[in-house]
Amino acid sequence: MATAPKRYLVTSALPYANGLKHIGHLAGAYIPADIYVRYLRAQKRDVVFVCGSDEHGTAIPIQAMKEGTTPQAIIDKYHQAMKEDFNDLHISFDIYHRTSDPLHHETSREFFTYLNDRGELETKETEQFYDESSQTFLADRYIKGTCPHCKSDRAFGDQCETCGTALSPDELINPVSTISGSAPIKKKTTHWYLPLAKHEAFLRDWILEEHKQDWRPTVVGQCKSWIEGGLQSRAVTRDLDWGVKVPLQEADGKVLYVWFDAPIGYISATRQWAKDTGNDWKPYWYDTDTQLVHFIGKDNIVFHCIIFPVMLKLHGNVLPVNVPANEFLNLEGDKMSTSRNWKLDMRDFITDFVKKENGGDQCVDMLRYYLTQIAPESKDSEFTWKGFQDAVNNELVSIFGNYVNRTFVLMHKLCQGKVPKFHAAKSDALDAQLEKDIQATREKISACLEQYSFREGLFEVIDLARKGNKYMQEKEPWIVAKSLTEHPEKQELIDNCLHHCLQLTANLAILIQPFLPSTSRKMCHMMKVVDKMLDWENAGSMKLLSVGYSLREPQLLFRKIEDVEIADQITKLKHASMNDASTPQPTAEPAHAPLKPEIVIDDFSKIDLRTGIVLSAQKVPKADKLLQLEVDLGFEKRTILSGIALHFQPEEVVGKQVVVVANLAPRKMRGIDSQGMILMAEDASGKLHFVQPSSPINGGSTVS
Ligand SMILES: [Zn+2]
Repeated sequence: MATAPKRYLVTSALPYANGLKHIGHLAGAYIPADIYVRYLRAQKRDVVFVCGSDEHGTAIPIQAMKEGTTPQAIIDKYHQAMKEDFNDLHISFDIYHRTSDPLHHETSREFFTYLNDRGELETKETEQFYDESSQTFLADRYIKGTCPHCKSDRAFGDQCETCGTALSPDELINPVSTISGSAPIKKKTTHWYLPLAKHEAFLRDWILEEHKQDWRPTVVGQCKSWIEGGLQSRAVTRDLDWGVKVPLQEADGKVLYVWFDAPIGYISATRQWAKDTGNDWKPYWYDTDTQLVHFIGKDNIVFHCIIFPVMLKLHGNVLPVNVPANEFLNLEGDKMSTSRNWKLDMRDFITDFVKKENGGDQCVDMLRYYLTQIAPESKDSEFTWKGFQDAVNNELVSIFGNYVNRTFVLMHKLCQGKVPKFHAAKSDALDAQLEKDIQATREKISACLEQYSFREGLFEVIDLARKGNKYMQEKEPWIVAKSLTEHPEKQELIDNCLHHCLQLTANLAILIQPFLPSTSRKMCHMMKVVDKMLDWENAGSMKLLSVGYSLREPQLLFRKIEDVEIADQITKLKHASMNDASTPQPTAEPAHAPLKPEIVIDDFSKIDLRTGIVLSAQKVPKADKLLQLEVDLGFEKRTILSGIALHFQPEEVVGKQVVVVANLAPRKMRGIDSQGMILMAEDASGKLHFVQPSSPINGGSTVS
């Protein structure tokens, strides 16, 4: 292995202080970073782990409006809440800072001035959207309109909420101001820009050549498409009164663009940490012996791999050696979404599990375990409550916890509660194999963690516990014990087995420590060893516990997750998402779609509505939105194409009762004749629901 770098600086994405963060965020940028840092610390490497709240940008005043308070109150509230949540889930930052801190403002202004003085920024006069009635320039988020891609009317000047495409306000169809609801005008304003195109050659060399092998393919791929799509100059200032003031006289009323100042927050956090601990922060940001690693979610790739590195290069700082960005974590079959209330906040898990009577640190580790096991490292993955229960009950409890518990119980029963001697003369192939497995596992886990493969690293730990169970099962010391009266010499076989099982337990405590720190500490307590034993270099040793040393009674490491807990959570999730209309929307939207012109009863009676049952469903090739359904109307079966594919998986709709417009003229789409239409209701968030009879009835029943 190459010599270790002199020092590490590990960052986790600065969470935005406009609300609580959910477990998708936790799985993406915080748990993996924490595992990595704990692994480095266990090797006594010089590492600083920084994070903090991102407290600028337009969404903060928007949230303040929504909650009827001031932006300052919003950031104070959510900064404190996020800090507590991370702490409760044992994310071990060396500092959790905030970008509203004066030190951050100073650091950001210095950064801007440095770049501007050297001519690295350019100014441009542009026309921007301006709301005349409120006399303010409109930030992207304050402009709403129709998405040019999916035609949804839930598109904002920065992004379409329906299809997720990043937008600029100019692309919106029929833009309106969300402040006044009126159409904005264009007004001239001057801004400072970072000309990214000037740095294309550097980015190509650095990402697409130098790091094309060691960065995740998803990260390199996204960078490549950005670079090849043409790098646009990016505004680093904004017309806004919330943020870091631009340190120039002529820029009155302007602040630094939040994406310019937020990543500088990593530097200010490091400065604050150094100040608090009496260290020097500069080597961490200027010395090339520093290994800088950014842990983020995939929505932040462009900022951490393209924009911030260009800023760092111009400012003379170190560049990240890796940016292990994670993909997204879905929840129970759907994308996590704060606006639709389809999410599990860290706070909710803490309240419902960690702070419950039977909760505590073990529940923190259960969550850390499951989120690592399903970490979206190479593709999106999914949190399900059933999956959580299975991971805890079938792996943590049945494999890892069970192994440790059996070892302790047997040691107390068959070896007087003491670490037995190992009789080398009686050693056999199984013992040798276990020793080899422990060694090999340590190497494998190290290699995984050095390459940011946390999922695989964790799998190796559990696999080693599985091997321990197998070893014990093959040796059967409880059977051997039955023949002791006739063959007292067989105690040596029992001793050998339990000796190895205990040394493996000690090894497991070391290897699981970066992932499940509380579990590891609990094991140390049972073994009566100090934290020093957990040094990574000790892993692989078969002499961790001294012979004759008496150990404590076993305690269960994990409790089981009951069916009822899972059912409660699923009910809670569905209930919250149904009630999401109770959350006021940030923008002044009409409460309902306008009514269509009046009709008479005869108009309505022309429509033949019938109930039906969906027999089968499949996706229509090359049509993202369409599902092809076979619907049983009782008297006949129909093929119906329905534009619901973005909302439902085919398997979800099979067996559903539906209401069909049965006398609609057939219509050919994608070469398929659609013989009718399914009625759907759309809620305020754009989510579709089937219109159904309240209880099952025969297909073909009339609806009027
Ligand atoms: Zn769209």
